[in-house]
Amino acid sequence: MQAFAQNGDSIDHSQEVYEAGWGCQRAVNGKVPSEVYLHRCQRMIHAHQIRPDATESTIRAHENGKLALRYFQSRFGWSGMDGKGMPLVSVTHIGHNYSGAYFDPTLLFIAYGSGDEVSTTDATWAIDITGHEFTHGVIHHTSQLAIHGEAGSIGEAYADFFGLRIEGKGDWIIGENMYLPDSPVSAIRTLKNPHLISFRYKNPITGVITTRKHPKNRSELLPVRPPCLMGTNFNCYAHVNSTALGHTFYLLSNQIGTYQTEEILFYTMTRLLRSDSDFNHHGEMIRLACEHLYKKGSKTCEGLEEVLQTQGF
Ligand SMILES: [Zn+2]
Repeated sequence: MQAFAQNGDSIDHSQEVYEAGWGCQRAVNGKVPSEVYLHRCQRMIHAHQIRPDATESTIRAHENGKLALRYFQSRFGWSGMDGKGMPLVSVTHIGHNYSGAYFDPTLLFIAYGSGDEVSTTDATWAIDITGHEFTHGVIHHTSQLAIHGEAGSIGEAYADFFGLRIEGKGDWIIGENMYLPDSPVSAIRTLKNPHLISFRYKNPITGVITTRKHPKNRSELLPVRPPCLMGTNFNCYAHVNSTALGHTFYLLSNQIGTYQTEEILFYTMTRLLRSDSDFNHHGEMIRLACEHLYKKGSKTCEGLEEVLQTQGF
């Protein structure tokens, strides 16, 4: 760990925000662009200077970025995604009618879609989404959890937890601000009661599509059948299965306190997990983190144990 200034809020992190147009990406309607040429995108915010023609989405991306940077800095002394103060790069209006946001692990930026304007609007409206993607960036620079299978679900659960902490509403609902009022879907996931949000499940053998509820407990996980390639099987249900662990984090917050949960999760995520961590390895590491921070047999670690046992982790 490095030494950091105590008052994180006083540190002014550097950010750059670009706007994507046709010239800087290969985009297909509704999909993540297959290629982004960042240097050809229009740079609208640089060194705290905002161009007067910057869109509202761009300004929101910058504001959301500040919240994510300040949270990790003030809460954990962690500066930027890499903990070493790297500038935050964001790209707005990515793709064409694209709903959502993502972290680009190669070019290291957060990209926001403008939405399809049927059920979704611009993703910059959702601070929890910014926090989620920023956390993917922190994971990328630390444990480097794989994005598929159980490692993928672990990463998604951590990204959801810290995304919600950065948003700071205490609603445990992910992405609610991205949906238009008439949309049949009202949010992406909820960690308080994952069952409240359904998803379309395609049976891998019969091909039949049904509606299923997000898992709340390890016993409800969907089976992961490799190979889990991008674009197929929704990365082996990495997002769907994440809610079993995400709900565990919700229960932990109630049982041992949000502050303690944040401490333990940050320690586990940045120092103990590795790219191929599965749920079993994660279970060992989160217990180890608790022992490091709060001592074996403490009330906190006993509370943690209780929740993990109930949840099957
Ligand atoms: Zn994610």
